[in-house]
Amino acid sequence: MDSSATTPVFCTIVPPHVLDRLARADDAALSATARRTLEHDARERTRRQLNTVLGPVGGAPAAAPSDRPARTIYDAGHQDALPGREVRAEGAQPTADDSANRAYDALGATFETYLNAYGRHSIDGEGLPLKASVHYLRDYNNAFWNGEQMVFGDGDGRIFLDFTLPLDVIGHELTHGVTQYTANLDYQGQSGALNESVSDVFGSLVKQYALGQTADQADWLIGAGLLAPGVNGKALRSMKEPGTAYDDPQLGKDPQPASMSGYVTTSQDNSGVHLNSGIPNRAFYLAAAAIGGHAWEQAGQVWYDTLTGGTLSAHAQFADFAAATVGAAVARYGEGVQSRAVRAAWTEVGVTPAATGLPRQQPGQQPQEV
Ligand SMILES: [Zn+2]
Repeated sequence: MDSSATTPVFCTIVPPHVLDRLARADDAALSATARRTLEHDARERTRRQLNTVLGPVGGAPAAAPSDRPARTIYDAGHQDALPGREVRAEGAQPTADDSANRAYDALGATFETYLNAYGRHSIDGEGLPLKASVHYLRDYNNAFWNGEQMVFGDGDGRIFLDFTLPLDVIGHELTHGVTQYTANLDYQGQSGALNESVSDVFGSLVKQYALGQTADQADWLIGAGLLAPGVNGKALRSMKEPGTAYDDPQLGKDPQPASMSGYVTTSQDNSGVHLNSGIPNRAFYLAAAAIGGHAWEQAGQVWYDTLTGGTLSAHAQFADFAAATVGAAVARYGEGVQSRAVRAAWTEVGVTPAATGLPRQQPGQQPQEV
């Protein structure tokens, strides 16, 4: 991986295929709102591709990062200029604006999960200040991390509600930042679907950590509470049962595959990064369910080690990632319930861990069977 510069991912939590469908709705107001969101996102995506953001650069080591987050929340005032007017700084009392307070709390919950579960200080591991803008544009049906900050729309109130509502959405977007500073998985094809999946995994784990849930208590949904009343669906995605999150006349049916037999080949959405992520998502769910207990502890640790271990190529395919998770499980826990659960999970979704590129061999250790 090139550590001198990283390309930030421009991920909107509502993927283009959902908005495409809404843009074709018979209802003129609905389709106009979706079209505006799509056009905005396409412009932003192009702009991001023309820029790279400097990653961590060498130099004198900074002071030890704080165990407290450094949050600032802004109100974009329904405009597109970022970040907007500062409304709540770190340590300040809640404001009268629920969206601003939710964003503040969610940034804190994400910071806390990464710190307490994995010892990571913020997105970059060095205490990066966390910024978020709420009330971005009007009726904007999305939320995103732009490489530097979080941005939330209010939703149109008909299909989507306020994007600060689901904690896992915020955990998802901030995890794109973590990936940007670590494995930097290329946002295209299978490595892009892995980038997406890693964001869903840790987004869900942030929520599970905040709620104190075990793997069997968690809903394993991404974006629960985001769909407006009357929309036939429970969330944007289901990690446990990809393809079942919604089935609605306006939104269409959740198109995510649950295993390799349903792998989608498409040129849209960076070759289906939000579609095929269903496959590694389910692998994580299966591994976590088989291991049991709190998913952020052992299963989450294995995925975190995989992401941050430095052995994963930016162009890793599913089979490479699978092999790396097995290697990470063995490296941390030895051969046992964890490595067996991880192997079985990948087998269940139709991915055979790659035979090459086994990570983390200890000196003198024999290569492990995968
Ligand atoms: Zn994403």
